[in-house]
Amino acid sequence: MSKIIAVNVKCPECRKSLMDEEYLLHDRPSIKINVEMGNKRGTIRLCSLYGCYDHKSDIDLIEGEIAKFHCPHCNKEITSSEICETCGAKMIPFTLEMGGRVSFCSRSGCTKHYVAFEDISDAIRKFYKEYGYR
Ligand SMILES: [Zn+2]
Ligand SMILES: [Zn+2]
Ligand SMILES: [Zn+2]
Repeated sequence: MSKIIAVNVKCPECRKSLMDEEYLLHDRPSIKINVEMGNKRGTIRLCSLYGCYDHKSDIDLIEGEIAKFHCPHCNKEITSSEICETCGAKMIPFTLEMGGRVSFCSRSGCTKHYVAFEDISDAIRKFYKEYGYR
């Protein structure tokens, strides 16, 4: 893989980092967040490489079901009113360390996700510079 963008994210509520430096996925710190599906609760680690859907969860996620996510620091649910264009589930927004946000679909198995910046030109420049889009 020659084009790699890794994202650093924080909780949109308490603004604490969700990066786990000790648990690596694809040699990068993973995004650690509490996950809930049905009556099961656990912890999920998401790969921080943009476009990679790899994750490790300590509960079994059922393909096609919608998960809920809570911040491990403030325990607030991370959610939005935005709806996935592909499947109609809610999008889950994380705040990017550099400004803007990255959102992904709450439905297990749906790969819809995108990045949105408040100031596009500035953020994109920083994004590519900081994370070495080569
Ligand atoms: Zn929080
Ligand atoms: Zn990955
Ligand atoms: Zn979706």
